[in-house]
Amino acid sequence: MDYISTRGSAPTLDFEGVTLAGLASDGGLYLPAEWPSFSREEIAAMAGLPYHELAARIMTPFVGDSLTQDELLDLCRQAYGRFAHDAVTPLAQLDERNWLLELFHGPTLAFKDVALQLLGLLFETFLTRRKSNLTIVGATSGDTGSAAIDAVAGREGVDIFMLHPNGRVSDVQRRQMTTVRAPNVYNIAIDGSFDDAQAMVKRMFADESMTSRFNIGAVNSINWARLMAQVVYYFASAVQLGAPHRQVAFSVPTGNFGDVFAGYVAARMGLPIAQLIVATNVNDILHRALSSGDYSTGNVTPTAAPSMDIQVSSNFERLLFDVGGRDGLALAEQMHAFEATKAMQLTNAQREGASGLFTSARADADDMARAIRWAHEHAAQTIDPHTAIGLHAAQQSDLDPAIPIVTLATAHPAKFRDAVERATGSRPVLPSRIGDLFAREEAYTELSGDYNAVRDFVSEHASPAA
Ligand SMILES: *Cc1c(COP(=O)(O)O)cnc(C)c1O
Repeated sequence: MDYISTRGSAPTLDFEGVTLAGLASDGGLYLPAEWPSFSREEIAAMAGLPYHELAARIMTPFVGDSLTQDELLDLCRQAYGRFAHDAVTPLAQLDERNWLLELFHGPTLAFKDVALQLLGLLFETFLTRRKSNLTIVGATSGDTGSAAIDAVAGREGVDIFMLHPNGRVSDVQRRQMTTVRAPNVYNIAIDGSFDDAQAMVKRMFADESMTSRFNIGAVNSINWARLMAQVVYYFASAVQLGAPHRQVAFSVPTGNFGDVFAGYVAARMGLPIAQLIVATNVNDILHRALSSGDYSTGNVTPTAAPSMDIQVSSNFERLLFDVGGRDGLALAEQMHAFEATKAMQLTNAQREGASGLFTSARADADDMARAIRWAHEHAAQTIDPHTAIGLHAAQQSDLDPAIPIVTLATAHPAKFRDAVERATGSRPVLPSRIGDLFAREEAYTELSGDYNAVRDFVSEHASPAA
């Protein structure tokens, strides 16, 4: 499989290349040159497969010649063997039409484990083969950091430098990052917001003095392999609910547009998805873009769902590319204008292309708390604030009631105990697999919001490319 950039002028890469790359050299994001698809018969035959076998089946066309079938199956078995539930991503029923897809049974209690556990293994496999080193530099508003650190801690050939906004992630999230003791893990708390941290990471990717010495790689959802791994649970859940013979809709708590874009990919691959509901909190740039074509950033408002406190959703560019006719040079121009002015209007083709499958909804703090209480009182389920935003959006849906709506439960409620306790009056208990989190010692480096300080820290501690 060949991968091309959304901005039309970076070199084509294979799966191995795209897994180790961050942004494309033209500033775009990589996508498969064409979408593989499955027939109805092939989808029907997915029913009942163990998760790791389903995963390998769905990923095979994307991986191409970069791994043998046996290697891919083995990596999927290892990655998903670390989940605390045998079904990996089980479904729970809330009422006649609403379901929860529990994506939080991985080691760090958020859906990002599903993709990152595999990505850590892919890195190690490819880097050992190439005899080279990768320097991962990432910014996290919480869940990405812990999931990425868990996935690469102690792995050969990889160092990880994870920036988080000092004081703006939950205590559980911070401890999940800062208590991991491995020589290849560096936590950095910077003064500023998540967007400030993200801007520094982007700057480092473009910094000649760094890229000439280090192989700088990404673990945020600009990495294609992550999105690929997320496609699997859309198939797994839809097939359980009757696909390909029945349509299914999904409500997806959205930040960087990675998770819901994986749903779009599943639809392009033939899964009968009736609708993808993009659920946002008050940081609602995506809701505005999808409902009125206005993609303009505002200030980030901190909420109880911090992984969705994002104004610029990187993966939205992938959608704009695909629905807008795959014209990379035109999109590059549109994105450069957006980067300069922080605002743009979607083209008619982009709006029409998105409106076929996507709808959107926005939840404020009251909507979120109400959804947490509803699940607690009416369905005996404790849900986290991110999931609650998805559930709120699902409950607003005007779709045909015969179509089941699956809300993606993106984090374990114990990760956001304070918000859940405020809404329900009871405090979720941390699962025993991370129960000693508060007894472990933390280690992290505090740096100012100055790019040079971060750059010097990374170049002092990272391993050169080869
Ligand atoms: C990352 C995250 C999201 C947002 O996912 P995107 O792929 O960035 O849209 C939602 N909920 C939780 C709990 C997350 O960790």
